[in-house]
Amino acid sequence: MPYREGENLPQMLSNIGSREVPPVVETLEDFLRSCDAPTLREFGVSGDDIGPETFYPRLLLGRYFVAQLAALTAQGRGKGHAVEIRSRHAVIDVIPSTDGAVVRFETPHAAGQTSFDHVVLATGHKWSEKTDPSGVVLHAPWPAERLRRFSDCSVGILGGSLTAIDAAVALASFHGHFDETDGTRWIPNSKDSAFRMAMLSRRGLLPDADWYYPLPLPGLPTFNRAGLDLLVTRTSGQTGLLEACQKKLGEDLRLLDPTYAGRARPESVEGYAERHFADRLKQGGWDAARTGLAAATRAREARHTDPWRMALLAAHLTYESLLPHFSAEDRRQFDSELRPVFADVYASVPHRSIRRMLALNDAGVLELHGLGQDYAIAPAGHGVQVSGKSGVMEFDHLVDARGQTAASLADLSFPTLSQGGHFDPETLRVTHEMCRGSTITCAAVPVLLRHNPFVQGLENVEELGRRAADTVLASMTPAKAAQEDRGDRR
Ligand SMILES: Cc1cc2nc3c(=O)[nH]c(=O)nc-3n(C[C@H](O)[C@H](O)[C@H](O)COP(=O)(O)OP(=O)(O)OC[C@H]3O[C@@H](n4cnc5c(N)ncnc54)[C@H](O)[C@@H]3O)c2cc1C
Repeated sequence: MPYREGENLPQMLSNIGSREVPPVVETLEDFLRSCDAPTLREFGVSGDDIGPETFYPRLLLGRYFVAQLAALTAQGRGKGHAVEIRSRHAVIDVIPSTDGAVVRFETPHAAGQTSFDHVVLATGHKWSEKTDPSGVVLHAPWPAERLRRFSDCSVGILGGSLTAIDAAVALASFHGHFDETDGTRWIPNSKDSAFRMAMLSRRGLLPDADWYYPLPLPGLPTFNRAGLDLLVTRTSGQTGLLEACQKKLGEDLRLLDPTYAGRARPESVEGYAERHFADRLKQGGWDAARTGLAAATRAREARHTDPWRMALLAAHLTYESLLPHFSAEDRRQFDSELRPVFADVYASVPHRSIRRMLALNDAGVLELHGLGQDYAIAPAGHGVQVSGKSGVMEFDHLVDARGQTAASLADLSFPTLSQGGHFDPETLRVTHEMCRGSTITCAAVPVLLRHNPFVQGLENVEELGRRAADTVLASMTPAKAAQEDRGDRR
């Protein structure tokens, strides 16, 4: 979905450097080097731009994935597997039965069903218009083309991170264009347009500009699974485990980056997020974005990483594995105090995205507001009023760009599966009393987000795909699996 034409605009950038995109059949870089010049030109990329740390337009990644799927299919067929891809088949139900799972679908012309031994639900992102309890419509940011309706008016964008930047880029592209030849400027189509937008987030900060870090990421001295195992075994499920773990992380941070540790006092969970963001909040959103961009550019050139960033990036991977051991109270604290900090380090954005936001602000069409923790949305005439810490603001429309919301199995709109299907986040398996010999595996991002807030990027979904494949292989009888290995099964 994020890489598909129609849903996204050519101006939208990926937030993952080329070297981090998990290769399918070949690496993204190898694929791009094999593309002809007109294809690259179509995406505004020249041969000189291609490199391990480049951020490309998302539609170019879409081209890559389409080519990789074709190559993978050819490889499979070459080994004797029967591979069939049925596009434009919208699955409307998955019905577990004693001898397989029946998948019901609709095509633009017909309806039908097919039975499978194994089913993987990989339905991905879901964006739909929502209505706030106040009655205000919160417009979905996707498909981006739908935002074109909001021409020459004022738009509030709820959120201030990756999706909000995409929404701002889309609206700005409908009302003008970015000139990125010498610096970055936004040139409006008309000087008389009433077009204005404002990003509305809790803190009123933009995400950080992408910063350099080495791969593989160095581990932490004590805050790692081996160092925490005894603690976790003894106190799994007990409130207080989070505080104990965070103390260890605090000790590591004090060793690795005493300046950051002195300023943010990470060893104490309570109030950590506020202390972490304090400097930028004091500076204000736009100034913090400007100085952050300049610092990230210098650090990239010097190939330098602030030790605290690298430590927190490594720490979030360890925390990911600890989440199932937290009590409800620890999980609540983790979500409010630590998650924003970790999101701050892993959700950094291409420098070009920050430059574009600054250019929109310079052109007087983009504002940034911090709403604080409590804010209210209410209808106001034909428009909407948003009130929070930064005051009362009115807009013609409100776009909800707060990112993917978590969902349950029932939200996937497969009615039979949602009645009686049970999802286990540990194994990704969906069990159902009717489903015995077959497997149903759920790798749908919104469902997993409920259990793991870090399931976001391509590296995560690659791992999910592998786990889903392992489940299928593990459930095959040895004879069947051997046949698969030899490529006999059709
Ligand atoms: C806007 C956006 C930008 C992102 N940018 C980045 C980035 O730059 N870097 C990064 O690492 N990660 C990024 N991500 C995260 C990551 O790329 C996605 O999480 C990843 O694409 C998820 O892959 P997926 O296959 O699970 O889901 P999706 O990519 O959403 O694909 C799901 C597929 O299932 C199909 N489908 C859904 N329902 C049905 C149905 N009922 N029947 C049949 N088909 C169905 C959809 O049409 C779609 O083809 C981004 C996510 C979003 C939303």
